[in-house]
Amino acid sequence: MRKIIIAIDGYSSTGKSTIAKELARALNYVYIDTGAMYRAITLFAIQNKCIIDKEIDVKKLTGLLSEAKLEFKFNEELGYSEMFLNGKNVEKEIRSMKVSKQVSKIAVIPEVRKKLVSMQKIMGKKKGIVMDGRDIGTVVFPKAELKIFMTASPDIRAARRYKELIAKGDNVSYEEVLKNVRERDYIDSNRAMSPLLKAADALNFDNSDMGLEEQFERIHYYALQVIEKQKKNA
Ligand code: C5P
Repeated sequence: MRKIIIAIDGYSSTGKSTIAKELARALNYVYIDTGAMYRAITLFAIQNKCIIDKEIDVKKLTGLLSEAKLEFKFNEELGYSEMFLNGKNVEKEIRSMKVSKQVSKIAVIPEVRKKLVSMQKIMGKKKGIVMDGRDIGTVVFPKAELKIFMTASPDIRAARRYKELIAKGDNVSYEEVLKNVRERDYIDSNRAMSPLLKAADALNFDNSDMGLEEQFERIHYYALQVIEKQKKNA
């Protein structure tokens, strides 16, 4: 079967990664969460004291960037890959509010984007990949065979994220999560380099009123249609 590249972009907390993970499992594809890569660099910046009083020391961080070794390692038990920073599993830490509050500011730095985008392009060389993020269909894989742009209202996204964080034991308020979602939307959509944009050929997918099962079924169906078309054209 001819393999394709599936790019899933969209706003924060639209549930991109849940659907992307499921889809990769169903198609036997590799799943790559690019947000985890930006989050890991943010954690690296915090660990190396490149963020003092909310100010980012861009020069210091870019100077240290080559020392940040990122790896995805597949966890057989969970059925998906986890992020390792310099040999340490950082999955839990990178999802914390401490990282969420800084990540969009780190993601505007051109040197950070260049490093991560070049790693992402290499990961997609063999196709058979589902990648989610903000610039996958526009910058990383502009020729991806299937592009989905996920949206949902900010309140719904914040409520979903709040539930997840509380379930994990994080001590956060709904207002704090909503503020973070809105801030990240703003910074991600307004940055100079590869802002969050719907690619002209991406399918707009608003999941405000859709359960996970329905979302998966629809997107899986689109993917199978594209794969089928590729086979016919081969
Ligand atoms: O997907 P997630 O919400 O975990 O991403 C965290 C942050 O990383 C985003 O808010 C955005 O600032 C940045 N990001 C990005 N480009 C990507 C993926 C994530 O700028 N491809």
